[in-house]
Amino acid sequence: MNYELSDEQLQFRDSVVKFAQGELSDHVSTSDSEEFPYEKWRSIAEFGLLGLCVPESYGGAGLDCVSAANVIDALGYGCLDHGLVHAVCTQNLCAIHVNEYGSAEQKSSYLEKLCRGDLIAAQAISEPDAGSEAGAIRTMAIESDDGYVLNGSKIYISNGPVADLVIVYAVTAPEKKVLGRTSCFLVERGSPGFDQAKPDEKMGLHTLKNGGLFFADCAVPETSLVGRKGAGSAMFSSSMNWERVLLFASFAGKLQRILERSAGFARERKQFGVPISSFQAISHRIAEMRINLELTRLVIAKAAWQIDNGKPSALYSSIGKLLASEACKSACMDAVQIHGGMGYMAEGDLERELRDSIAGTIYSGSSEIQRNIIAKLSGV
Ligand SMILES: Cc1cc2nc3c(=O)[nH]c(=O)nc-3n(C[C@H](O)[C@H](O)[C@H](O)COP(=O)(O)OP(=O)(O)OC[C@H]3O[C@@H](n4cnc5c(N)ncnc54)[C@H](O)[C@@H]3O)c2cc1C
Repeated sequence: MNYELSDEQLQFRDSVVKFAQGELSDHVSTSDSEEFPYEKWRSIAEFGLLGLCVPESYGGAGLDCVSAANVIDALGYGCLDHGLVHAVCTQNLCAIHVNEYGSAEQKSSYLEKLCRGDLIAAQAISEPDAGSEAGAIRTMAIESDDGYVLNGSKIYISNGPVADLVIVYAVTAPEKKVLGRTSCFLVERGSPGFDQAKPDEKMGLHTLKNGGLFFADCAVPETSLVGRKGAGSAMFSSSMNWERVLLFASFAGKLQRILERSAGFARERKQFGVPISSFQAISHRIAEMRINLELTRLVIAKAAWQIDNGKPSALYSSIGKLLASEACKSACMDAVQIHGGMGYMAEGDLERELRDSIAGTIYSGSSEIQRNIIAKLSGV
C-alpha cells in the first residue's frame, strides 16, 4: 500500500490551498455572505475546479476520484466559505453524472459549459414527502408523443435557485416498486412549466442557494432523458457514492483548518499562568480532532480508490461520509468551547463555521441513514 500523494497531486493541492485562501475567503464576513458570488464562481471555473473528473476533451481536469477528493479536501481547507465549496462540489457531481450517463449529444451540449461555469447545475431528488426515503418520490414523467411531461415538486435543492440545468429524478413506471421505477432528466432553466423558488433561509451555508423546484406540465424532449429509461435508482446509488466521497472530502479539509486554529489558540491563550493547551481537558479535544481527521481521510481515500478501480464503494462511501460530517460538527463544537467567549462571538467566526457544519449530518443521507446502510452491508 502506498499512502503518499504523487508530486503532481501535492503541487495541485498546494496551488488550490493558496488560491482558496487568497481569492475565495475574503467575502465571508461575520454577517455571512448572502449573495451567490458569481465573480468567485468565474475565477473558480478559470482555475479549473468545476469539472475535476470531466475528460480534458470537454474542458475538464480529467482526474480520477482519488485525485479529485484530494483537490476538494484542499478546497475545504483553504476556503472559509463552505457554502461556496458545497456549490462547487454540486457542480462537479452533476458534471460527473452527465459524463457517466449522458448521451454524446448531452455531453457535447453541456459538459464544456459546466466546466467553464457558464451553466450552473443542480441535482433534484428530495421532495416534501420523500427525504430519507428517496424511493418515495412522486414527481411523475409521463411519456408523450415526442418526449415526457413532468409534474411534481422538489425541495431544498442545492444550487436550485441559481441553476441553469437540473438533473431531475422522476417516476416513469409507477407500477414498479424500486428497480425500473424512476428515470433521470436534464431540465433547462426557462423550460415551459418549470419554476425555481427563491432561496430558502437557513441556519448556515448562506452562500449555497437552496430552494424548491416546480414542474407543472413541463414538457421535455425525448433527448432530455439521461441514460436508460428506468435506470434512475441505479444512477442514484452510484451518484450517492461519488457525492459521499467528493463532497465530504471537503469536510476533512475544513476539519484540519478547525484543528489548526484550535491548537494555535490553545498554545497562545494563557489562564492560571499557563497556556490552556497544558490542560488535558483542552489537549484531548485537539487529539480527538486529529484522530477523526486521520480516520476520515483514510476511509475517504479508500472509498475513492474503490470507485477508481470499479469495486463496490457504498460501504466505504457511507463510513467516510458519516465520519467526515460527524467529526466536523463535533470539532466545530469543541473549537467554540476551546475559544471560550471568543468562540461564541460572531467576530471570532467560529459560530458560523459551526452553523455551516451542522447540515452535513443531514444531506446526502443523514447519519441515521448511513448507519442503516453500513448495518445492511454488514449483514443485518
Ligand atoms: C443544506 C442542504 C442541502 C441539500 N441539498 C439537496 C440537493 O442538492 N438535492 C436533493 O435532492 N436534496 C437535497 N437536500 C435534502 C436532503 O437530502 C434531505 O433533507 C435529507 O435526505 C433528509 O430528508 P428530510 O429532510 O426529508 O428528513 P426526513 O427523511 O424526514 O428525516 C427526519 C429524521 O428522521 C430520521 N430518519 C428518517 N428515516 C429514518 C430511518 N429509516 N432510520 C433512522 N432514522 C431515520 C432522519 O435521519 C432524520 O433525523 C439538502 C438538504 C439540506 C439541508
